Formats: sequence, C-alpha cells, structure tokens
Amino acid sequence: MKFLIAEDDFASRKLLQAYLKRAHLTEVDLVIDGQEAIQAFELAWAEEQPYDVIFLDIMMPNIDGQEALTTIRTRERELGVKPADEAKIIMVTALGDPTNVIRAFNKGGATGYLVKPIEPDTLMQEMKKYSII
Ligand SMILES: [Mg+2]
Repeated sequence: MKFLIAEDDFASRKLLQAYLKRAHLTEVDLVIDGQEAIQAFELAWAEEQPYDVIFLDIMMPNIDGQEALTTIRTRERELGVKPADEAKIIMVTALGDPTNVIRAFNKGGATGYLVKPIEPDTLMQEMKKYSII
C-alpha cells in the first residue's frame, strides 16, 4: 500500500505520517504542495508504481488541493486508468468549510475527506470505510 501526503504544514504532515506508521503503513511519500503532489503522481505512474492513497490538504501554496485533485483525476483518465485502479484521494481541510468539501466531492472526484486536527481513530475509520485498510 503506497501513500502520498501533500501538506504544507510540517507538523500536520509529520503527524499524519506518524499515524500511518503506527498502523504499519510505512510506504509514505511526503510533499509540500499541490505542484509536488502532481509531480509525485506522474513519477509514480511512470515507474508503474502508482499511489493507492493520496492525502491532499486543501489550503496549500502554488497549487492547492482542489486543483491538484482535478489535475490528478484528469491525468488518470488520460492515462486510461481503470476506475478500480484510481487512487483513493482523501481531502484534508482545516477550514471545516462545507462549501470547499462539497466542491471537492462533487466536482473533483475525491474519495473522502478529513477535518483537521486529524484524530488517529477518525483516520482509521475513514480508511476502513474506503477499504484502504
Ligand atoms: Mg495547508
């Protein structure tokens, strides 16, 4: 199971990684904005080792989470990725902003979302819900 965490806040990034590690999920790449997330996504597909799960913070510099989500979903279609092989994309928001979250779901093709601060139990529940673990 291969994970990508895109999060501009250092502490949030490390914390999410630590929670995954606690669940013995250790194949985790960390990036700091949407631009790097898209690059990591492309590289992983080029190496034929795509990410199973991508966490996308919504508020990030350069390219934000919404735009990264849209780009990744578009690229998956261009690459001919079958729906079953698409990355599960979990949006992460500190905003508690329903408009942003709904937009992520409806337009961008997000799998789910988490509101910060992320609690380990909530994280595990979400991952079970989407058959990640
Ligand atoms: Mg952020």
